[in-house]
Amino acid sequence: MATSTTAVSSLIESTSVQLGRIRVLKQGIQQFDEPQSSSPKVGPVVYWMFRDQRVRDNWALIHAVDQANRLNVPVAVAFNLFDQFLGAKARQLGFMLRGLQQVHREIEDTLQIPFFLFQGEAIDTIPSFLKECGASLLVTDFSPLRQVRAWKEEITKRVLDCVSIHEVDAHNIVPMWVASNKLEYGARTIRGKINNLLPDYLIEFPTLKTQIKNWDATNRFIDWGTLIENATSKGAEVPEIGWCEPGEVAARETLMGNKNGFLTARLKNYSTDRNNPLKPNGLSGLSPYLHFGQISAQRCALEARKLRKVNPQAVDAFLEELIVRRELSDNFCYYQPHYDSLQGAWEWARVTLVAHALDKREHIYTKEQLEKGQTADPLWNASQLEMVHHGKMHGFMRMYWAKKILEWTSSPQETLEIAIYLNDKYSIDGRDPNGYVGCMWSICGVHDQGWKERPVFGKIRYMNYAGCKRKFDVDGYIAYVKRLVGNTKKRKAETLLDSKVS
Ligand SMILES: Cc1cc2nc3c(=O)[nH]c(=O)nc-3n(C[C@H](O)[C@H](O)[C@H](O)COP(=O)(O)OP(=O)(O)OC[C@H]3O[C@@H](n4cnc5c(N)ncnc54)[C@H](O)[C@@H]3O)c2cc1C
Repeated sequence: MATSTTAVSSLIESTSVQLGRIRVLKQGIQQFDEPQSSSPKVGPVVYWMFRDQRVRDNWALIHAVDQANRLNVPVAVAFNLFDQFLGAKARQLGFMLRGLQQVHREIEDTLQIPFFLFQGEAIDTIPSFLKECGASLLVTDFSPLRQVRAWKEEITKRVLDCVSIHEVDAHNIVPMWVASNKLEYGARTIRGKINNLLPDYLIEFPTLKTQIKNWDATNRFIDWGTLIENATSKGAEVPEIGWCEPGEVAARETLMGNKNGFLTARLKNYSTDRNNPLKPNGLSGLSPYLHFGQISAQRCALEARKLRKVNPQAVDAFLEELIVRRELSDNFCYYQPHYDSLQGAWEWARVTLVAHALDKREHIYTKEQLEKGQTADPLWNASQLEMVHHGKMHGFMRMYWAKKILEWTSSPQETLEIAIYLNDKYSIDGRDPNGYVGCMWSICGVHDQGWKERPVFGKIRYMNYAGCKRKFDVDGYIAYVKRLVGNTKKRKAETLLDSKVS
């Protein structure tokens, strides 16, 4: 896709958003009502919200509003609900739709910006909406995933010549394309680049000011109840989770709520507890919100940074994950077209994995056995069940979990496919660049280095049961997951009974 970040200043006047954060995907040709007229015909601005599903702290929304104010035209937000996106089930769809319901309410009530929801393929619905409302500018947020990039490319072709398209990186603190223009080898090669740019980009957000213009549209009623019911019953195989409330308000509460907010109550133990699967509260718990864009990573970093004087070690460790590791994942998925296959691994890793592909495995399990958690390893089974029933596996266990699959399947490509399939299907934060990179790191050594060569793994970093036993109370974790699964099943049975009674 032809993009331009250099000559942007002549094209965009944005009062609040740094220019580097915006890329022009298409420059529309100005249209005039009359052949002799000197004032161009300017239509409304539409923000196609995809990855950053929030009202607050959203650079794409800020840019859309800015542009509308400058052009003196109305602005609207459009969201397209796909029939299928990377196999999302009730768990992910319910969380997303409930969050969007809040976006709808807040954006219309507090900002008087209309919210349109479409169903079907974005390559059809978005261009046809732009045409219908006579829009002159489409603003979109950024995702490095290939499906989203392909849609944008197609939409760029399909919209009328008079429509401009601006892409805004509202997800990363340092915009992905500003941080680096190439595939980075690892955290050590991107860390300095990001840190040098943080003074420019880790800044407070401007206040959104909409100049209210009437949007000529009717029938904007959205029946969220039916939408949620349909989506969750269609994807009922993987039910919704009860422990993590969706939406921007709950996201802020998780970050800094008075009761059990991460920064308020839990941050101080982050550097010591975050690798202990028995202490899930040792982690922030923010990944579901970050994945759906219900909270901005920049807001999390700004608030965490305020506590650096009191908790320097914990804040630094958190910011390393939140900024460096997370933005490194976007870098990988954007610059590596094979971000979810063996082809995307570095050469040393491919060579070593292929060399050991035929090594004898102690056990070989099918995808079905793995999915049901039916291996000879009770620790692995517990982590699998934590993901299936709770919807989020502890971060430390995710590494062990993925690496073990390499030991139990007949090829690294199959391992990768199974790990991604399970992670995307059951994790509330799945289908994310962090997930693809997490699997690639564990199985294919991406962003890692070569280690002592051993059977099956070759030079890929190895993890085993004995190592886990040294690190944490393995039996305690297995018992904890058993209780978790028992409670989840009990709640599910009660809900089923309630719905039958009513
Ligand atoms: C096999 C495997 C699969 C994974 N799948 C996913 C996934 O589907 N979605 C997902 O968001 N993360 C994934 N991760 C990365 C990491 O495990 C999770 O981000 C983390 O456990 C989320 O919990 P938290 O928000 O409470 O973590 P915290 O430790 O509190 O981290 C805060 C935030 O920093 C970022 N972060 C933390 N660790 C990493 C990391 N290793 N790489 C990139 N960013 C990181 C995340 O955005 C996270 O929400 C995976 C890791 C592995 C090894």
